[in-house]
Amino acid sequence: MKIGAGMTENHLFRLFTRPEEFGELNSLLRTTNSSLRTKEVNLEPTPKKRIFIGLLVLTCLILSFFTFLLWYVPLVGLKNIHSSLPFLYSLILAIFVFFMFSGGLLLIFTVLRGKDILFSQRLRGIVAKILFPFMILMGKIVGVSKEKVQQSFIELNNHLVRSNHHRTRPGRLLLLLPHCIQDFDCQIKITGNIKNCEGCGKCEIKDLIELADQYQVKIAVATGGTLARRIIVENRPEAIVAVACELDLTSGIQDTYPIPVIGILNERPFGPCINTKADIQKVKKALVDFLEPSLP
Ligand code: SF4
Repeated sequence: MKIGAGMTENHLFRLFTRPEEFGELNSLLRTTNSSLRTKEVNLEPTPKKRIFIGLLVLTCLILSFFTFLLWYVPLVGLKNIHSSLPFLYSLILAIFVFFMFSGGLLLIFTVLRGKDILFSQRLRGIVAKILFPFMILMGKIVGVSKEKVQQSFIELNNHLVRSNHHRTRPGRLLLLLPHCIQDFDCQIKITGNIKNCEGCGKCEIKDLIELADQYQVKIAVATGGTLARRIIVENRPEAIVAVACELDLTSGIQDTYPIPVIGILNERPFGPCINTKADIQKVKKALVDFLEPSLP
């Protein structure tokens, strides 16, 4: 199915809860209507953690340069205040540079080895809360798209979560899915209770429910970030396997820290937000990675 083929404005409106989102898409469809009807959108996810590592090295070098300026410029002025101030100031900046490079190297070695060396839980927080916005900025400067940086961030986060070997009981593990996995023409309301699905097999909701039942983990569908946050607050999971697009996964991983999240990018053979797919094997592996080894 291609975007636009057989879809009316009413169909599209049902995809979006906010009128402005519908307005944006509607105008986009008007201007590119003919090409959208004939061209399939290929958004095959190709996350590469090396993009993130490259941007991280670049960030460290640029920050070092600015640190040098911070050290050199006031050095002369500080001498006039007290003779020992230049030394103290240099020491503080040297400690900052030392921690920055140590953290960067630790992050790179943790990812390359796939094992927790030191503080992988903390590193995950630093990457999510501090480094990621820098990486987006660096990506802009060197011409790496935001989507690629997001994919890279998700992969890096997954490495850090796995290297921490976090284990939980099935009842505290949540499988969180986006609403767009449900078949577009299915009339059954599965938000609120995914078990309303009648298991016809037209979409992967059926397989994902079976997978959740097999491992006895919780499963839920969210239409957006607000509902996802509510589901997390209500279920209080110790770990989450989330399927979503780049934007929702990156914001979800950031918002839910310190809860460990393994993010799995959805596949979008018909374009964004409609009849999307999840790689069942990747979801299964992520669930198993979180469960106690003695469980099935
Ligand atoms: S598998 Fe469930 S959610 Fe998907 S189309 Fe069938 S009834 Fe609807």
